[in-house]
Amino acid sequence: MLNLVLFGPPGAGKGTQAEKLVKKYQLVHLSTGDVFRANIKGGTELGKLAKSYMDKGELVPDEVTIKMLESEVGKHVSPKGFIFDGFPRTTAQAQALDKFLTTKNLSITMTLALEVEVEELTKRILLRGKESGRADDQDEDIVRNRVKEYNNKTAPLKDFYLKQGKLKSVEGTGSIDEIFNSLCKEIDNG
Ligand code: AMP
Repeated sequence: MLNLVLFGPPGAGKGTQAEKLVKKYQLVHLSTGDVFRANIKGGTELGKLAKSYMDKGELVPDEVTIKMLESEVGKHVSPKGFIFDGFPRTTAQAQALDKFLTTKNLSITMTLALEVEVEELTKRILLRGKESGRADDQDEDIVRNRVKEYNNKTAPLKDFYLKQGKLKSVEGTGSIDEIFNSLCKEIDNG
């Protein structure tokens, strides 16, 4: 199985690249942000809870996020692999994911980190907000807080995967296809 973590700050293009990778490698796309948004739309308790954090640009608590992710993984029977998009975002989530996959005799194949300059991120997200209508993409303070959360809690994860020998860094600036080709090269070279 090919189990990929697509890693990077908000606005790095994870969602866009995940969609293309899913098609090419026939993987199951698991985006925690998408699941939270679907729950908000559906008015579930999980959605209400997630919204209270997302509206501030803060991370949803680990316990809730991990439980949700594990339940999403469990919905798929014999997939070719998973692409985890926007998860893990904390060391506790990464440890929980490793532990959970081990119980299923699975593991992360590699973590692909999209590298984009911080100044470029805010610009990209605010532009995306105009088209997507995502509330957390339209308010500059929320966007800044998301980048701050990334720097404080998520960026240290690079070291976690580096130590496991699984981290592959990919230049996240350029055309969508250029970035996609760089990602595919890393995947195909194993
Ligand atoms: P995204 O769509 O990945 O940009 O996520 C949007 C928002 O959902 C984030 O700013 C967080 O509030 C929340 N979120 C998504 N994934 C996670 C996660 N793995 N851990 C905690 N919060 C998350």
